[in-house]
Amino acid sequence: MTYKVYCPHCKKNNLKLRQEQELEGYDFLVPDLKENKRKWIDCIDCNLSFSTPRLSKRQLEYMYDNYRSETFRGESPDEYFDRITNYPPQKSENFQKLAWIRDKVTSKYNPQKILDIGSGGGVLLYTLGNIFLEADLFGVEPTSNFAELSRRRTRAKIVNAYFDNKTFIDHQFNLITCCQVLEHIENLNDFVKNVSNRLITNGYLYIEVPDISDFETLEKKHSRFSEPSHLWYFNFDFLCNNLFKNVFSLIDFTVIKTVRNRNNLMILFQKN
Ligand SMILES: [Zn+2]
Repeated sequence: MTYKVYCPHCKKNNLKLRQEQELEGYDFLVPDLKENKRKWIDCIDCNLSFSTPRLSKRQLEYMYDNYRSETFRGESPDEYFDRITNYPPQKSENFQKLAWIRDKVTSKYNPQKILDIGSGGGVLLYTLGNIFLEADLFGVEPTSNFAELSRRRTRAKIVNAYFDNKTFIDHQFNLITCCQVLEHIENLNDFVKNVSNRLITNGYLYIEVPDISDFETLEKKHSRFSEPSHLWYFNFDFLCNNLFKNVFSLIDFTVIKTVRNRNNLMILFQKN
């Protein structure tokens, strides 16, 4: 575990403490987390918030390998998949986000090839497949049990891996979706480069992350803050005016409150 005294993104040290808290409830995944305090720190230079101490690569990989047992506690993978995909459209967050994307592009929007990065159990791919009936679907997911579930329950081609510069290297996509993933990514600049390389010119990128306004509305010990693999907290300004700025054009963004009172920042970009 390493404690950062500089911003892991821009490497500068113009920092301000945002929140300090216990890291409780995760030692079943990462035993040496016990007794550790976590800090959320704002980088004044890039307007980004980061957590410290940070898990080592080995600890993070162990967490992702073992994620499943926690996520599906009390529910079999298929019960989870059925519950999420059987919500009616007006109650389905996945349906709502695709309706939002379509509203921003055109109601006739019909992407031929779609990649979901961090596709989890495949519930978004399933909804994508129901809306874009002709599209070829692809997913990349590091947790093997999730990847196996999505292979079984969707028509998408799934690779069980971390998204990097080799992922689906022979393909170019019209739409890339990436939900609740960016906050786990260590090297943000590499991620932008790799996403850009997989998108066609004028292709669309949909990003969804926890929004910084969570700090105003969620209690301090909320899992969004204590989850050990959450490395960053984003706001609109950092993502649109800094990280994605030179490669992507902003189409639209919004912050929505989920049924569980979390704040999600949704952004739609188009590749230049
Ligand atoms: Zn910074």
